[in-house]
Amino acid sequence: MSHTFEPPGPTLSTAALNALRLRVSGDLFTPEHPDWDRVRAPWVLNVDQRPLAVLAVDDVDDVVGAVQWAGAEGVQVCVQPSGHGAGADVSGSLLLRTRALDRIDIDVEGRTARIGAGVNAGELGAALAGTGLTFLSGSNPDPSVVGLTLTGGLSWFGRAFGLGCDSIVAADVVDGTGTLRHVDAADPDLLWALRGGGGDLAVVVSLELRLHPAPVIHGGQLWWPIDRLRPVLDAFRAVCERAPDTFTAWWHAMALPPLPEIPEPLRGGHFVTVAVAHLGEADELDDLLAPLRAIPGAIRDSVGPLGPEQIPHLAEEPVDPTPVLSVSTLLNELDAATADALEATVGPGSDCPVAIVQIRQLGGRLAEPPVDLGSHGPIAEPYSLTAFALLPAPELEPVFAGWLGRIADCAATSTAGRTPMNFLGHDEANTWWDDATRARLQAIKAATDPQGVLRSNRPVSA
Ligand SMILES: Cc1cc2nc3c(=O)[nH]c(=O)nc-3n(C[C@H](O)[C@H](O)[C@H](O)COP(=O)(O)OP(=O)(O)OC[C@H]3O[C@@H](n4cnc5c(N)ncnc54)[C@H](O)[C@@H]3O)c2cc1C
Repeated sequence: MSHTFEPPGPTLSTAALNALRLRVSGDLFTPEHPDWDRVRAPWVLNVDQRPLAVLAVDDVDDVVGAVQWAGAEGVQVCVQPSGHGAGADVSGSLLLRTRALDRIDIDVEGRTARIGAGVNAGELGAALAGTGLTFLSGSNPDPSVVGLTLTGGLSWFGRAFGLGCDSIVAADVVDGTGTLRHVDAADPDLLWALRGGGGDLAVVVSLELRLHPAPVIHGGQLWWPIDRLRPVLDAFRAVCERAPDTFTAWWHAMALPPLPEIPEPLRGGHFVTVAVAHLGEADELDDLLAPLRAIPGAIRDSVGPLGPEQIPHLAEEPVDPTPVLSVSTLLNELDAATADALEATVGPGSDCPVAIVQIRQLGGRLAEPPVDLGSHGPIAEPYSLTAFALLPAPELEPVFAGWLGRIADCAATSTAGRTPMNFLGHDEANTWWDDATRARLQAIKAATDPQGVLRSNRPVSA
């Protein structure tokens, strides 16, 4: 259901707000501001969040000032660059928008990128054009790279290079006492925590990320009418089973909404699609895709050469803020019972209105990260099943939630019973960390944020 978070705590006194205004240079918004509803809204528009105030920070000094002020006033600080992961309670907090921290420095020889907390995936991808290097981008260009990376970072090239969080080399952070700190291998506990511990430990103002070699990339999308769902799903599994780690495929059943911006004849249509990315030559990819291309009736084959700047856009997901409900689970296998259930639930003849039902191929380096590199840990499961429903109207939420439940039930025989942190729905508890990892994260938070000033969407305490 949609969430409305009412501020339970004290409202801010005018004197307290004035003290913050004097301390920072960024724009400070409170509920009286005419733009309040716009600035408080997250990307996931159906989450009706109500912080005490929103600060669009101008620079790192604003972050320091805001955290110090919050500690003195007994107010919590939440960081929300764009709000793809919105959903945790931000009521009573000062919400920081980091968009202005937009600096990108690429070291091509050293294969690293230093990015500010406001840089989004599309922007970092664009900055890598022509370098022959890639970062570990997810499916959407809009989330901040920091937000995407801190809680995992499942990307097109995770099978080859691992989780995004495990490519964190160093970070500049403001801890819960309002102290600016550089975190690198000399601070192994906090570096371990940042690699998968989310935003509860410190406000990250910039990250240094390892970049990965991608001199030649090919990829694109194959589409068929929905009546080919079953042969495409079977061929997808066969392709995945023999693919090298340089190759990744995502299968989709799509119900395109009847929106004017979607061209005919796609508007309102149902399709089965496979999106692929391969770190290698066209002939290798052609060979891998042969079982899929043998299925007749394809209406689209956009597979071709790609630059790193195209990777964040490859999935062609909606970019503008959208009301979304989602469900996701990792799969131990892609068995016949799951395929049968998906065929019956979202296949030909179904009127399932869920826009995107997606099976991602995982495995490779995701399953075997270096031991104790970071707090996220491995994803051993070979696939994930995720569905995103775009809500056309708030009152239809129960209908779409029902469909998401039926899609999740399709995985009754194959689910691993856990959801990747980055794909938790906006009202789901975070059960990702095991007890020992959570306890270590809590001990590190007690040192970096002794007053509990910082509150993330994946709190280490819960
Ligand atoms: C349509 C869609 C597609 C997605 N695809 C993928 C995908 O392919 N791969 C994947 O891994 N995930 C994916 N996600 C999940 C998404 O990457 C995460 O929710 C991510 O956290 C969103 O980034 P954001 O900038 O929007 O973060 P926000 O939602 O704005 O913030 C989320 C949390 O990140 C933390 N945070 C963000 N910035 C900072 C900072 N500077 N310092 C400290 N903490 C910070 C905070 O704890 C905050 O609560 C997808 C989500 C959606 C809605």
